[in-house]
Amino acid sequence: MSIILQQLANGITVFFAIPIFLNQLALIAKRSFKNRNSVFLYIIHHSLVIIYERGKRMLKENNLPLIGGCSCGQVRYELTEKPLFTHACHCTDCQRSTGSGFVIHTLTIKSGFKITGETKSTTLPTGSGAGYNPHFCPKCGTFVWCEYHVAPKGFVVLRTGTLDKPNDIQPQAHIFTTQKLPWLSLPENVPHFPEMYNRKETWPKESNQRMDRLAANSSS
Ligand SMILES: [Zn+2]
Ligand SMILES: [Zn+2]
Repeated sequence: MSIILQQLANGITVFFAIPIFLNQLALIAKRSFKNRNSVFLYIIHHSLVIIYERGKRMLKENNLPLIGGCSCGQVRYELTEKPLFTHACHCTDCQRSTGSGFVIHTLTIKSGFKITGETKSTTLPTGSGAGYNPHFCPKCGTFVWCEYHVAPKGFVVLRTGTLDKPNDIQPQAHIFTTQKLPWLSLPENVPHFPEMYNRKETWPKESNQRMDRLAANSSS
């Protein structure tokens, strides 16, 4: 009898113990899986925070986004990518089209240039004879940006003076200084060129690489 009772007791123990054991195993597995998931989410979250903070710092360092528009406010734009280069051109064509002493041009890539409002364009001559298309507000006539026919597709030139804060970008070079108005003195710490500069020798390395990629894409 006692043997039968013993076996019954063993049976009950096994009957209940195994499921309890399995249940505990399942709980441990679930918890560790959950933890692993949390670690994974933690890594993803922190990576995104680092990327976001780095992006924010980069935008701040470059005063991005650069915001501007025409005189009447019908055309507005936002530049979200770091410009390639900014130069002041002193040629007589730029003097005429601005009605001033020189133009400041910020050279950039169209993908980072978002424009709202209607613009019209025309074709004007350039020194090379290839021409360019200025885009202006049809309401107030402000010339906001342009595209040069010789330049790769996706390359745009912004008229820096149309920025809400024009001092956010300063010229990195002065070009066509042979045609410069004689009463104007240029800063000594910024390179001057009698005509156009050699891009590879003048632009920052990173800008040259971005421009090379743009040229390669537009020719393929
Ligand atoms: Zn306007
Ligand atoms: Zn010019």
